[in-house]
Amino acid sequence: MIEPTYVTRPFLPPLEELQPYLERIWANRLLTNKGPFHEEFEQALCDYLGVEHISLFANGTLALVTALQAMRITGDVITTPYSFVATAHSLLWNGIRPVFVDIDPETLNLDPDKIEAAITPQTTAILPVHVYGRPCDTARIQSIADIYGLRVIYDAAHAFGVEDAGGSILRHGDVSILSFHATKVFTTFEGGAVVSPDAKMKKRIDYLKNFGFADEVTVVAPGINGKMNEFQAALGLLQLKHFDAALKQRAELDRYYRETLADIPGIRCLPLPDCSRRNYAYCLIMVEPEYPLSRDELYTRLRQNNIFARRYFYPLISSFPMYRALPSANKSNLPVASASADKVLCLPIYPGLEPDRLEKVTNLIRSVIES
Ligand SMILES: *Cc1c(COP(=O)(O)O)cnc(C)c1O
Repeated sequence: MIEPTYVTRPFLPPLEELQPYLERIWANRLLTNKGPFHEEFEQALCDYLGVEHISLFANGTLALVTALQAMRITGDVITTPYSFVATAHSLLWNGIRPVFVDIDPETLNLDPDKIEAAITPQTTAILPVHVYGRPCDTARIQSIADIYGLRVIYDAAHAFGVEDAGGSILRHGDVSILSFHATKVFTTFEGGAVVSPDAKMKKRIDYLKNFGFADEVTVVAPGINGKMNEFQAALGLLQLKHFDAALKQRAELDRYYRETLADIPGIRCLPLPDCSRRNYAYCLIMVEPEYPLSRDELYTRLRQNNIFARRYFYPLISSFPMYRALPSANKSNLPVASASADKVLCLPIYPGLEPDRLEKVTNLIRSVIES
């Protein structure tokens, strides 16, 4: 039996390339706490992404929780229901109340036109997500934040390597956070980072991720243990060497899907995001009413054929039990997000996806209208 085709498979460099890194770790016995690979990876990421201040983390959720702590965000924070659940969970972990605002039907990101109506005296910040690596309307969001004196924290977990006309989209807002989880475009198995605007914020975040230690005998804050270890950092350094090639493969797969599915009634690909460098982290289709099957029926049909597509992001975060009693979680407040969550299907896309598997996916989607 051949193994299923998953929506993503992590790209792993040839094993022999890892060997020298492991030998160095075994030789120097430095396993964590700002080891040499940690320092090298932090700098390499800054260079690659074109940003100045990065703090590495054990995972993206800890990065997000810590960034909110570092900025002393309290009260209410405006965010999107159309994301991975960690976005809103990071608010609850800080005793912050999420206020869900609907998304834009074209970008699937927080709709800037709907943000202002949700701002109250309790609102302190906006937490948008560059969902699927598609950039938010950063200019509009910043102008709203400036008018109302709000902070902006971008959950950029999907946006590794994405650039707009001005450079990395990670430069927007007060901070951005990245995830290097196994399912993301760039992975260190588990891992994450905070991108800070200046050395002062980076320093504060670095204290907080290491129990609040400023030096051997000084603890300046009730920090957590969010540190990235040397093995993760070595994986990151290695992965970075292959990332451009991986991106190129993803772009080709994305193009194949767009071209092959273009004429199928009721299967809609979103327009390519408006940016100068994309990461093709996800390949999603919207299953519209003209298609003979519902989204869930298509999902099941693919599964029966050993293709494990995913319904990201269904259910909406706002429908989970710890959120659904919030006034902003009401479905009538979130019509676009609710409709999108019912139509979206993410198709397999990853470097090394074999042509016959790819063809099987598109043939199956097409066979429904031809039968
Ligand atoms: C993956 C993800 C996270 C969490 O990252 P982890 O590294 O898995 O902790 C946060 N936000 C979004 C949008 C994600 O997709």
